Amino acid sequence: MHVNAYAASSATSPLEPTTIERRDVGPKDVLIDIAYAGICHSDIHTIRGEWGDVPYPLTVGHEIVGTVAEVGSEVTSHKVGDRVGVGCMVNSCRECENCKAGEEQYCEKGNIGTYAGKDVDGTITQGGYSEKIVVDEHFVLRVPESIPYEKAAPLLCAGITTYSPLNHWNAGPGKKVAVVGLGGLGHMAVKIAHAMGAEVTVLSQTLSKKDDGLKMGADHYYATKDDETFEKLQKSFDLIINTVSAPLELKQYLGLLALNGTMVNVGAPPEPLPIQVFTLFTNRRSFAGSSIGGIRETQEMLDFCAEKGIAPETELISADQINEAYERVLNSDVRYRFVIDAKTFAPA
Ligand SMILES: [Zn+2]
Ligand SMILES: [Zn+2]
Repeated sequence: MHVNAYAASSATSPLEPTTIERRDVGPKDVLIDIAYAGICHSDIHTIRGEWGDVPYPLTVGHEIVGTVAEVGSEVTSHKVGDRVGVGCMVNSCRECENCKAGEEQYCEKGNIGTYAGKDVDGTITQGGYSEKIVVDEHFVLRVPESIPYEKAAPLLCAGITTYSPLNHWNAGPGKKVAVVGLGGLGHMAVKIAHAMGAEVTVLSQTLSKKDDGLKMGADHYYATKDDETFEKLQKSFDLIINTVSAPLELKQYLGLLALNGTMVNVGAPPEPLPIQVFTLFTNRRSFAGSSIGGIRETQEMLDFCAEKGIAPETELISADQINEAYERVLNSDVRYRFVIDAKTFAPA
């Protein structure tokens, strides 16, 4: 089946309307009429070839919500009309230790990304900037109706990417959590950490988004451009979630960790970050990374957000505004995630 989509034909060309092919609905597949697709910074890095060679033409997008339009004969977990979501992966081996443990994102054979991945049938996966997608039921999430439809999409990447480390490192009552950067990922980290009961501090370059941060649930807000911030907050946090993908002076940030504290990177700077190991000796500190979350945990995150009344802050755009939106994301000029109305993927 051919569906309307937006794709780029090279690393330097803009995204343009096109049609892409979706496979026939197999016994375990779900056909989804996409309603909204979020714009993740990874979409931009990928489609511009900044994270390595990609097969063009390529359709990106891995924050997808929509409605089930058709299910295969063996599908048991979703039915026509359900509100569902798809995140950053659409398949994995399902047999390795990590997959069996529900950590498909760490599949030993590599998970299959929602776009630019090589699927088991050899085709290159195409992402959510399109009208429809066909996905194995195991990788389709239930999106509770109480989460506003047009705001739900960013939970599928930004939501789980921050929920998973907060959950793994036990953010909760009595824990002091710092969130570095208040962008698409950071604003979700603040909302989720606050809802988990942690005391939340935002560390942002300036105080320009302070009012927003406090409204989202932050208890404190500091500017990292101010050197006094690092003096004042020394040895104070149990957990730091770093959402910034630009290189940071790690020593300064690790110095903010209390006893047994951990700094987790979810932003991905392309270049290596130098680390002074002595900084880790103090307070038995850890420096860690975390990548999205497993399917079970993603469902848990969606249910948690529904229960706590949490949703991303979004700005709705039409497909012809994607290229402009990319420039605004790169200029940090988005409050806090763009969501594309999938109806507009069809030619006008
Ligand atoms: Zn993403
Ligand atoms: Zn596996």
